[in-house]
Amino acid sequence: MLTRRSLFVAAALLVSASPAFAQDKLQDKFQSKLIVVASFSILGDLVKNVGGDRVNVSTLVPPGGDAHVYTPTPADAKRLVEAQLVIVNGLGFEGWLSRLVKASGGRMPVITATTGIKPRKLPGDHGHGHGHSHGEADPHAWQSVANVRTYVTNIREALIAADSAGAAIYRANADAYFGELDKLDREVKEAVAKLPAERRKVISTHDAFGYFADAYGITFIAPQGVSTESEASAKDIAAIIRQIKAQKIPAVFLENVTDPRLMRRIASETGAAVGGTLYSDSLTDEKGDAPTYIGMVRHNIKALTSALTN
Ligand SMILES: [Zn+2]
Repeated sequence: MLTRRSLFVAAALLVSASPAFAQDKLQDKFQSKLIVVASFSILGDLVKNVGGDRVNVSTLVPPGGDAHVYTPTPADAKRLVEAQLVIVNGLGFEGWLSRLVKASGGRMPVITATTGIKPRKLPGDHGHGHGHSHGEADPHAWQSVANVRTYVTNIREALIAADSAGAAIYRANADAYFGELDKLDREVKEAVAKLPAERRKVISTHDAFGYFADAYGITFIAPQGVSTESEASAKDIAAIIRQIKAQKIPAVFLENVTDPRLMRRIASETGAAVGGTLYSDSLTDEKGDAPTYIGMVRHNIKALTSALTN
């Protein structure tokens, strides 16, 4: 009669007698994951949420990096050669990507996650030197949670097209994430509703929050004539200081992808509070304040609320 113990021994013998078989199984399991490359960390997080265990997702621009002005590495080109699916933001965000895709042979599908989103136009009178061209589409569509529903829908359909066997899982994962997004959208609206109307305005360094402003009713003023890549002139700084005083702007914010020194200086000269760091174009690593998209929005709304509450 077989005891538990003898069964275990038999199973152990079977495995050790056929190591090649066991290894093949492991490799199959690994290779059956869909290899997806996302252009930047926020997209990578959305793909992870929809793809779950069926996808192996990596991102080109690392957490904390600036996707507007990224310089791809040879390792990125190699990663694209191995990718079965590439997901990008579009709206002119990743100007460096098409050359990289071409260099890698360009045989994998490249899906634009913002397809179907109505682009807002970047204001034409700002010179922020952040890689945007004036009057063109604003790429930062993810700053409206409602838009991220469209991102997730596009990602879900791309994953199903690349791996139809996972369709039911991708649909279920996307549905669960839609629920989280709806909850997040309500949280942001409730937080803004609690702020006095006259205090719903801040200065931030680059035009990354236009969709957020449109969706939630906080005015973001990116100072005129200020470039994130060069020193602001004394005249520029004087103009910003006048604007902060005239419009009684309560707080200035730093961003994780731009140089904080200018904003600190402006804050010290106007008495406006430095409201902390807003995460605009990139997540942090696991240990940071914004390791996921939902975590990023929660962090930003907390920073805004605490700076703008009386
Ligand atoms: Zn940006």
